[in-house]
Amino acid sequence: MDKAALAGRYERTKAAIPAGVKLIAVSKTRTVEEIKALYDLGQRAFGENYPQELRDKQPLLPADIEWHFIGHLQGNKVKYIAPFVHLVHGVDSEKLLGQLNTRAGAAGRELAVLLQVHIAREETKHGFLPDELRALFTGGSLQARWPSLRFRGLMGMATLTDDREQVRREFEALAALKHELAATGMVPADAFSELSMGMSGDLDEALKAGSTMVRIGTAIFGERK
Ligand SMILES: *Cc1c(COP(=O)(O)O)cnc(C)c1O
Repeated sequence: MDKAALAGRYERTKAAIPAGVKLIAVSKTRTVEEIKALYDLGQRAFGENYPQELRDKQPLLPADIEWHFIGHLQGNKVKYIAPFVHLVHGVDSEKLLGQLNTRAGAAGRELAVLLQVHIAREETKHGFLPDELRALFTGGSLQARWPSLRFRGLMGMATLTDDREQVRREFEALAALKHELAATGMVPADAFSELSMGMSGDLDEALKAGSTMVRIGTAIFGERK
């Protein structure tokens, strides 16, 4: 590992992100040594996609790391991460809400979540369709239905395309949907404030559309193998 190169990429990434926007360093597939090197440069929020990988790495790294689960989560894997994870970004079904609520309750903690919205024109991406979320929000207070969960906002992934205008439109639609849902009164509007959007390839568009959390892997750690 080239620590000087890592430090350089980290500094450039931080310089591109305004104050008030949270940088989550996406460390999927990276070794414990690479993560520790970035930790030593001051980074504390890390994002992982695979529950078992996160479960295995977490005890080997400093306890004050804030772990974000950003991938697609299967219900039977919730138990691996529910005891310690800081924020679950990719909640994409009502069933998963129930499983997270149960496991958080069993672990005696409140679990912060973001609802993932399918904004891309790609079948492979996960998430609620906007109308599915609207329907979810007509069923009464989310907090009352899933008392161990804390609803913090929305997450989305834009289409992988060179069409910057399309990416911008997708992020803007996500931002508009967050405002719309916050106004329904089914979540505490002041707490439903996060918009997790933006990765290495679409950071600028996400920031312009009002992202509050960016998930950056490649631009910090280099290309994944
Ligand atoms: C891998 C991944 C990222 C980071 O992608 P980069 O292009 O490496 O910045 C962000 N979000 C999710 C959900 C990911 O799976």
